[in-house]
Amino acid sequence: MKAVINYIKEIFSAVVTLWTGMRITGRYFVSPGEIVTQKYPENRDTLVMFERFKGEVIMPHDENNQHHCTGCGICQINCPNGSIEIVIRKEMTAEGKEVRVIDKHIYHMDMCTFCALCVKTCPSNALAFGHDFENAVFTRESLTKILNKPGSSIKKDVK
Ligand code: SF4
Ligand code: SF4
Repeated sequence: MKAVINYIKEIFSAVVTLWTGMRITGRYFVSPGEIVTQKYPENRDTLVMFERFKGEVIMPHDENNQHHCTGCGICQINCPNGSIEIVIRKEMTAEGKEVRVIDKHIYHMDMCTFCALCVKTCPSNALAFGHDFENAVFTRESLTKILNKPGSSIKKDVK
């Protein structure tokens, strides 16, 4: 008898749960003012992602093609799955001093879990999350990106 009562209780609980979900679906169905879904990709030109959306790791550059990356390698060390490779080169300053500069900041998006450790731990605030999410490609190699742009340099005031 107890098993039958439990069985009926479970059925009742399932019907209540189903009704709860369908009630919300039904409300949006008959109330166009409350529509929360969007037609994609028809809205591609006007689509704006919300601020905290993590599409991909990027390195912002200013209008002079300058970034904040010193090539310190901290993001590479902190990335838990080896998605970042830092390649540096040596350069001579006008004063004849040899300095390390970033040659390539390589980002393997195919391995990235978007954990944000690289962005949060960069001491120069050189990384951020971009909002581009259309990264469907035919080869994994296409998901490897060089984040510092060609011909770019570090901003003068970044130490
Ligand atoms: S992005 Fe930041 S943490 Fe990574 S190498 Fe550049 S300055 Fe260092
Ligand atoms: S977001 Fe996380 S997984 Fe992706 S590159 Fe940065 S540290 Fe690595």
